[in-house]
Amino acid sequence: MYSNTAPEVSTEEFTTGYGFRKSLKAVKDAVSIEEVAQGYGEFRQSGGDRLLGRCVLPNHEDQTPSMTVYVEEQRFKCYGCGEHGDVIDLVGLAEGCEAWEAMMILAQRYGIELPGRPDSWHRKQARQKPVRDELDRMRVEVLRRRLFRILEPMVRDVEDEALREEVAREVWTALWPQAEHMLREHRKEGAS
Ligand SMILES: [Zn+2]
Repeated sequence: MYSNTAPEVSTEEFTTGYGFRKSLKAVKDAVSIEEVAQGYGEFRQSGGDRLLGRCVLPNHEDQTPSMTVYVEEQRFKCYGCGEHGDVIDLVGLAEGCEAWEAMMILAQRYGIELPGRPDSWHRKQARQKPVRDELDRMRVEVLRRRLFRILEPMVRDVEDEALREEVAREVWTALWPQAEHMLREHRKEGAS
């Protein structure tokens, strides 16, 4: 009865949770800012561990290369518009997206496997399952009783017991898929 597909994870839960910080670290460890920057334009060696290139920000029309990438620190700074940060910020600026999207873009582009949810999350889900199953069972029972309350006056005057049962079955099979659909929708709302 209970669908065992995982509930949708909201963006908020995703970006504030333990999993996000862990994933962010995995991505930052796996990519190098100089390589990512090269993907957005030409960056040239500029003494020491620095690279110089045009700003990756689409609306900064950088005529002279103003963006410096510091390889050792894995950071960048644009001396034209003042933007600075790490590789996630760089992708965020270049793609015009938020940090979590930048992280997903990099993970996909470089085939980085993101860490799974921590064991504590799975333990919590497992603990809650019996409660959820019980709630589902109760909801089904409430629906069943409601349906029969509607049905009962309709068949009260039918003498033939077999016919009464058949009518009940008809109503049940006609209405049950609709009821199940309602339950599913209700659960989707609850999960978001
Ligand atoms: Zn700039």
